[in-house]
Amino acid sequence: MVTIVQKDSPVLREVAKSVPLEEIPSPKIQKILLEMAEALEGEIDGVAIAAPQIDVPLRIFIVSHRAFEITNPAAKAGEPKPANQVFINPKIIKLSAKKHLLEEGCLSVRNFYGKIERAEKATVEAWNERGEKFSRGASGLLAQIFQHETDHLDGRLFIDNATEIEEISPEELAKYRAELKAKRSK
Ligand code: ZN
Repeated sequence: MVTIVQKDSPVLREVAKSVPLEEIPSPKIQKILLEMAEALEGEIDGVAIAAPQIDVPLRIFIVSHRAFEITNPAAKAGEPKPANQVFINPKIIKLSAKKHLLEEGCLSVRNFYGKIERAEKATVEAWNERGEKFSRGASGLLAQIFQHETDHLDGRLFIDNATEIEEISPEELAKYRAELKAKRSK
């Protein structure tokens, strides 16, 4: 079982190092990707995870299949289930000027939620688990995830800039979710 480190861990405040591209296929990096996916899958509300969250100071994040199921529910009808997407050495190359105040949580700041300003749209350039370069643009939840995860790689946590931070226990959260809307953690 891979542990997700919590907010006082120094690794969350480091600027993570780039992965040398030739090392992407190596057993070391592939193992880290598997451990990140395992840790993410184990959190029922997890939509993304960054490597420092499992104590690995490298520039990698994974967006969960859950995020794609949320953002594109129509894909469920007869299509293959969405898979996790790996972003290695991600770089935000475009952010919209338009911003929104959004609700946010974090797997490393368990039970705390707050509001934070995020650009409505973001485009990320990165390498996948096979070492292929790609770029992906998104709006809404995915754009928010791109910004939250790249912040992790630069040693930032959402609580640094969030307002209206509140603690909500898992029990309260389950009730809140049922009554209102899903709160998601990254
Ligand atoms: Zn987080």
